[in-house]
Amino acid sequence: MLYHVAQCPLFAPSRDAYLRAARRLVDACLRAQERGGGEADTRAAFLLGGAGVYAVAALVYRALGLPDFARPLGKFRELSEVCAPLSFLECGSDELFVGRAGYLCAALVLKQRLGMEVLTPAQIKSICLAILESGKQYAVKKRKPFPLMYSYYGTEYLGAAHGLSSILQMLLSYYEYLQPADQELVWQSVDFLMDQEQNSNWPPELGETIERENELVHWCHGAPGIAYLFAKAYLVSKKPQYLDTCIRCGELTWQKGLLKKGPGICHGVAGSAYVFLLLYRLTGNSKYIYRAQRFAEFLFTEEFKAGSRALESVYSLYEGFSGTVCFLTDLLQPNQAEFPLFSVFV
Ligand SMILES: [Zn+2]
Repeated sequence: MLYHVAQCPLFAPSRDAYLRAARRLVDACLRAQERGGGEADTRAAFLLGGAGVYAVAALVYRALGLPDFARPLGKFRELSEVCAPLSFLECGSDELFVGRAGYLCAALVLKQRLGMEVLTPAQIKSICLAILESGKQYAVKKRKPFPLMYSYYGTEYLGAAHGLSSILQMLLSYYEYLQPADQELVWQSVDFLMDQEQNSNWPPELGETIERENELVHWCHGAPGIAYLFAKAYLVSKKPQYLDTCIRCGELTWQKGLLKKGPGICHGVAGSAYVFLLLYRLTGNSKYIYRAQRFAEFLFTEEFKAGSRALESVYSLYEGFSGTVCFLTDLLQPNQAEFPLFSVFV
């Protein structure tokens, strides 16, 4: 969050102070990581472990002009070996928070922010192939009528947090590294996921029926997160049906996206509002800025403060205020807005 705000020209007078604070924090994280802190199986995790620490350290060091940024970058590269074995995690090796999709997502962020590819083509291809092979094997073993499927702790999630949509999104982000036959499998899977839509939303798990009273409209589960896959599919293929699906995600979020689960980006108001900034960038329609602004205003109302669940992780990027600050900053620069660490425009 400090890095993100420091990159915004409107906060230029505070840039150095933010980056120095970011460095203090990330250095503490690096020391914990070097001490062997954290579980061995979260070493290659982007959002919950080592890969994320090294990636953010490289970004902060580089922004401060420190030549040292090559060191965390080297550590990051070494982790590609960790996530190469097909089942390197027992709980599921492919999803976004701890798995291979997350590692690829981190490499994408680094490429975008540092202006260089941090992994070699061979490393990228081997990780993509592992994701594809793992998905094929699972789909065959579970006799799925479609080519790629995954599970995390035994659950076949569909959404952005641990599910099929963000895994497919990452494969599309490295589309040119895939063989034509594998590209075809990815498109079949994207279309399969599109077919699982129920009234502009998706259930958290494959095969579930959405019940109106406990429908989830979150970034982590449901349309506000799955929208990013269809945005990416549209950007890669230019097929209007993917943009149409993304727009339906936005309409549902406008109707149902004011949440009681806090201000955050995972299952909170800012996470919903980011869909409008995504749609603004895709369509240029200022209606979406209006909608994002209304959601932002809601965060400061008594109704929200009185009705919202108390925060446990106040500083968390996903659940706390850090992601919310990223959203509010992006509202000031909507032409560059993107969900933190999850770009479809790279
Ligand atoms: Zn969530």
